[in-house]
Parts: sequence; structure tokens; C-alpha cells
Amino acid sequence: MPSRSALLSQRSLIAALLLLLACGFLATSLISYFASRSAIRDGIVNTELPLTSDTVYSEIQKDLIRPVLIASMMAQDTFLRDWVLAGEQDTARITRFLGEVVGKQDIFTSFFVSERSLTYYQAKGVLKQVRADSWRDAWYFRLRQMKSPYEINVDVDMANQDSLTVFINYRVLDYQQRFIGAAGVGLSVDAVVKLIDTYQRRYQRSVFFIDAEGKVILTGSDGGPHGLKGGEPLAENADLRGLLAQRPVPSQGSHEYKDSQGHSHFLNVRHLPELDWYLLVDKREGGALDRIRQSLYLNLAICAMITLVVLSLLNGMLRRHHLSTEALATLDTLTGLPNRRSFDLLAAQALLAAQRDNAPLVALLIDLDHFKVLNDTHGHLAGDEVLRQFANVLQGSLRQSDVLCRWGGEEFVVLLREVQGRQAIDVAEKIRRRTEQLTFSHDQRALRLTASIGLSALQPGDSLHTLLSRADRALYRAKQAGRNRVCSEATEPTHE
Ligand code: GH3
Ligand code: MG
Ligand code: MG
Repeated sequence: MPSRSALLSQRSLIAALLLLLACGFLATSLISYFASRSAIRDGIVNTELPLTSDTVYSEIQKDLIRPVLIASMMAQDTFLRDWVLAGEQDTARITRFLGEVVGKQDIFTSFFVSERSLTYYQAKGVLKQVRADSWRDAWYFRLRQMKSPYEINVDVDMANQDSLTVFINYRVLDYQQRFIGAAGVGLSVDAVVKLIDTYQRRYQRSVFFIDAEGKVILTGSDGGPHGLKGGEPLAENADLRGLLAQRPVPSQGSHEYKDSQGHSHFLNVRHLPELDWYLLVDKREGGALDRIRQSLYLNLAICAMITLVVLSLLNGMLRRHHLSTEALATLDTLTGLPNRRSFDLLAAQALLAAQRDNAPLVALLIDLDHFKVLNDTHGHLAGDEVLRQFANVLQGSLRQSDVLCRWGGEEFVVLLREVQGRQAIDVAEKIRRRTEQLTFSHDQRALRLTASIGLSALQPGDSLHTLLSRADRALYRAKQAGRNRVCSEATEPTHE
């Protein structure tokens, strides 16, 4: 098991890495998000909205400015004035005149209202009499009082199935500049509304017109942004309160404001001097930024995944590293046998089990004979190789349940479980004999070796120390007796 402090340092390393990766990823993702956000905002404010405004304006110019000129020409036409001043004789002449205007100029409708008779003439004949008490005719009585020569009015056209029409109402004056009626043309705003619809659909922006008083004149077919409708003053719309608090609209330029739900909007306002209208192009920031916000989330998700993968890989690596260092700490690097440290644990367990079960346990202390000479004669590497091969001899001579370890240098310890007396001596003898008989090899050289073994059996009240001390004494006696033999603590050497 990894030690507590190792685990702690592993955890803090992983936590530090996690923090580092998270901070790094978060910083780069956010930096790129804010950079693209500001690029998109700049694009909207400086390019997109003004471009839309330009295009819509040029369409409007095309559709509206020309009719204003036509209406002005009608109002100044001497035929019209003479015909009125001559007492409006022969309706066919005025209807032909009005028909000519419609036919030639591709205008939706043309009209003349006489001040003297209050008759409303149009290309198809007399439409009606205008009345001061009818809301439909309010425009005429308004125009009559006006100082400016004309007005542009968005209204429904009674003569054309009440379709939405822009009327250019021109004051007609006689040669003494007295008001003698209103002439003008009406044109369908369908083309403009269609254009607005296309823009709104394609670019998710709202296009609409207001007059100089801040009242909505024209919107797309589904109405304006924030539910604005034709005729509605901007000031009455709750979503525009933020904007109007900043600056009174209409005022030209780019504006930013928040609606009542807190969404940011960009707004471009442009004055149309010919009509004295304002063209407004509005875009919600959220819609424009949704895509980059999604890519931010995707970015963060990928970063989180990479972080998790890196961390799990790292965790696995650290775990493996720990296991291998733990293994190194318990195994002898030269022979691969348990080292003295792990022997202490294994031996303590074996001792405890034997004492608990009152089972026999025998210790063998094995020392290679004249190993120094072997080293001196054949070199240290040869010595190492012999030690490795001798470890194999030991492993091959013992059972799985026996405890074996490299005690140090050319000394080894064995604890034999469940054997005693003659049996234990036989195992020791087997080891001694095999060692003696085996030809060790190094660099194609044959090396011979013997081992001396001291043997002690577990006695009641023994500790590992006392048990091994007796085995050590027995080993000493085996050396003293001439080596290559097994000496039991109580017995005489078994071999010469
Ligand atoms: P004796 O028969 O009395 O045991 O004689 P010896 O030479 O084996 O005794 P000694 O304990 O004096 O020498 C042991 C030698 O083993 C000395 C040391 O250089 C060598 N040795 C100890 N560990 C290693 C090792 O890991 N590799 C090699 N090649 N030699 C080792
Ligand atoms: Mg020795
Ligand atoms: Mg020795």
C-alpha cells in the first residue's frame, strides 16, 4: 500500500495539475470567447446594421422619393389648377389626367380632392365626398392647415381593398397661392414590407420606421420588435424604456440598450430627410452570440474531458509507479528474493502462526563458502551471477509456503513450515548437495561452489531473534567444522 504521505503528495500533485489545467483551459477559452464576442459586436455595430440601413434606405428612396416628385408635379400642373379654377367641369378630363399619372408612372393610385366641392376624384371617377367628421378624411383637413407643401401618410386605401398604402398628399395652390385642394399619389408599401421581412428573416434583425415624433410608421408584416405596431409611440413600449432613458429617440447613430428582460440590443438609427422618417435596425445581441457561446461551452466541455483523461492517465501512472517502488522496497534487486525488510514481516507472521497452532518451524541460515575468493578470482560480476543462480537453487528446493530471503551479502535465511527433525535436515541437505553438485556459469566459465547451513528449530518462548541466533551459532559450527555441511543447533555436522 502507498504510504499516507505519498498518497497525500499524490493527491496534492493531482489537485495542482487539475487547477493548472482548468485555469489554463478556462483562460484560453474565455479569452477567445471575448475576442470573438467583441469582433462580432464590432461587426454588428459598424458593418451589419449600417449596411442593412443603407440597403433599406436606397430601396425606400427608390420607392418613395419618386412618387413625392410626381405628386409635386401634379400639384403644380396648370391643367389641374385651371380645371379647378374653371369650376370642375367635365369629370372625365380630371379622371383621364389622374389615370395618366397612374398608368405612366406605375403608381398604385392617384387622386385629387377639391377644396371647393370636397369631391374626391381618382382615376376611376369620383370616389366620394370628404367629410370633416370622418376619421378616414382627417388627413385632408390636416393638410389644409399645414405650412409644409406636402405630407407622407401611411394609411389604408379605401379604393384598393383597404391595403396598406403610403400617400403623398400635396397641397395644390392657385396662382395667388390660395389652397384649392390636395393632389397626390398612393403607393403600396408591400415591396418595402417584403424587403423588411426578408432582412428580418435572413439576418435576425428588426427593421422599422418611425416618424419625427417617435411613432412607429412601418414595420415588417409581423410587426416590429418588442411587439411594436404601426401608430404606436416608442415611449409607450416597456422594452424601449432603457433606450429612451439613455437618449431621446429618434437620434441618429448606433445605440446599445437592454430590454425589459435584460437582453442587450444594438440599434442603428438613420434619418431619411426626404420623408422626415427614421429608419431603425435593431438586433438582439444574444441571437448573434449564441453560436460563439455554444462553441465556448463545447470548448469548455472538450477541455474538461481532456483534463479528466490527463488526470486519470496520471493517476494510473502514479499508481503503477508506487506499486513498482513498493515492490522494489520489498525485493532484493539482484536475486528478486524478498529482502530483509519484507522477511521481518513474513517471518513474524510465520512465527505467530506456528506458535498459535503449536506447529513446527525450522530456520536455516545459509552462507556460501569462500565467496570472497570467488569474487577475487572471477570478478564481482561473476559473484553476482552466482548469487542469482544460487537463489534459483534455493527457490527450486523449497515449497511455496516456506519463507525465503536474502539476508545480506552471500547469506540467505529460510523458514521451513510444518517440518521438523530429520525432514528439516533433509531439506537443508538437499540444498547443500544441489549447490555442491551444480556447475554455476559465468562468461562460459564453470564455477563450483559449496554452502554451509546452520539449522535451528522453534522452541517455546522463542523470538525470531533467538531462533536465528541459534541458527547462526550452528552455521558458525558448520564453518568451523570445515564448511560444505549442515549443522543443527543440537547435532553434530551432517556432512563432511
Ligand atoms: P566464508 O566461507 O567464511 O563465508 O568466507 P567468505 O569469503 O564467503 O566470507 P566473507 O563474509 O568474508 O565474504 C563474503 C564476501 O561476499 C565478501 C563480499 O565481497 C561478497 N559479497 C557480499 N555481497 C555481494 C554481492 O552482492 N555480490 C558479490 N559479487 N559479492 C558479494
Ligand atoms: Mg558471509
Ligand atoms: Mg561466506
